[in-house]
Amino acid sequence: MGDLWALVLAFAYVGAVVAVGEGAHRLGLSRPVARKVIHVGVGLWIIGTVLLFESRYLAAVPALVSVAANYVIHRRRLLGSVAAEAENLGTVWFPVSFALLVLFAWDEPAALVGGVLAMTVGDALASTVGLRWGRRQYATLGGRTKSLEGSLAMFGATLLTTLATLWVVAPPLPPAAQAGLAVLAAVAAACAESVGIKGRDNLWVPLGTGLLLWAGLRLFPHLLPGLGAGAALSAAIGLLAWWKRSLSPSGTLGAILTGTPLFGLGGWAGGLALVAFFVSGSALSHLFRDRKAPVEADFAKTGTRDLGQALANGGVAAAAAVGYAVSGDPAWMGAVLGGIAAASADTWATELGVLSRTAPRMVTTFREVPPGTSGAVSLTGTLAGLGGAALVGLVAALADPVWWRLMPWVAAAGIAGAFADSLLGATVQAVYWCPRCGKETERTLHGCGSTTRLHRGLPAVSNDLVNLAATLVGAAAGFLAV
Ligand SMILES: [Zn+2]
Repeated sequence: MGDLWALVLAFAYVGAVVAVGEGAHRLGLSRPVARKVIHVGVGLWIIGTVLLFESRYLAAVPALVSVAANYVIHRRRLLGSVAAEAENLGTVWFPVSFALLVLFAWDEPAALVGGVLAMTVGDALASTVGLRWGRRQYATLGGRTKSLEGSLAMFGATLLTTLATLWVVAPPLPPAAQAGLAVLAAVAAACAESVGIKGRDNLWVPLGTGLLLWAGLRLFPHLLPGLGAGAALSAAIGLLAWWKRSLSPSGTLGAILTGTPLFGLGGWAGGLALVAFFVSGSALSHLFRDRKAPVEADFAKTGTRDLGQALANGGVAAAAAVGYAVSGDPAWMGAVLGGIAAASADTWATELGVLSRTAPRMVTTFREVPPGTSGAVSLTGTLAGLGGAALVGLVAALADPVWWRLMPWVAAAGIAGAFADSLLGATVQAVYWCPRCGKETERTLHGCGSTTRLHRGLPAVSNDLVNLAATLVGAAAGFLAV
């Protein structure tokens, strides 16, 4: 009986919120504000849902009905207050995510409420702040324009709503874990929102945030203090690197995705090893700019790293950090450091190898080739690579002395990875030919503006894929050596 009254109340409440928003719009309230009133008002129904319903299936009914109703309203443009471009299905994705969270996360009310409030309060505040105070704009992966100020508002609002939700629901969790979970959820919500695919924010923000809250409460409560600190640290470093133009906005996302598990699960050794690789690589790319400029025009990578490069360089190590947290086996730490050492060795070899006074040679044929050729090696580059790998091992050992014994293996794993990188670069990596300049390049569009054609290798094997494979070799070598 209680659930039937809850159903009646649900339809009455949602109908009243929509009527108020639509009525105010017809009386002159602007569409964005009216839409936001409805968005926030309907989203707050999650609190009524959790308090009034017994059955998760009946609790999902109003949302499921809204999916169908909103689709018809959207297509026929029945309500002026929520009308949007045809491809913006935000009003349909909103109840879809609401229903999915109710069905999936019903046994963790904090996850359910936190996820929906991230979308309801966070998203509304982010777009308001972005429109009013957004100065530092960026292009999202979904081809929209968002602002850093809006993303920070999303972070702040989700942090506060999650902390408040956890305080009210009071799951059995120590304060440090609650704080860690709130930071993790807020970073996740800001990242999901920053991807910026039209209307889909209403799907990915609540689902991503809610499922992360559910998993944190259910699966890894003991890891939350570390992961929260890892998310905060990597977000801060990522934003600093964006400001310094070492990372593109998508590269900042990549830094958070790889840095959070490395700091949170790999400890200071894993986290600082990543920072050592990243800071040294960025510094080296700024050094000797004039001497490297003519060669760098041919490389796929530029000084500013994007999401693909961040994942290619740090993804394997981040996955190994998860393995380390799950198993506690030091071999996984060998894989973490081996993967980062391979990325570092390759970066150092590339950045400093171009300064070699003698011509480099192809790793497969030992034929002399021009500097910067994919698959070319030189003594200068190899020594630089060894330095880059040794730095990673050294920083990890200084961060946590138990890893001193790993240092030679980390250096060796890094060199193995860099060698794999050269070997793949010489054989399967896609290398293009610029007809105007008459030379090899990793770019499909050459620095001169001319389009290039495939010269050797396989078209699907990009520079990022080769880097990923090289870090996998480094991680495997590190894993086996320990
Ligand atoms: Zn050219």
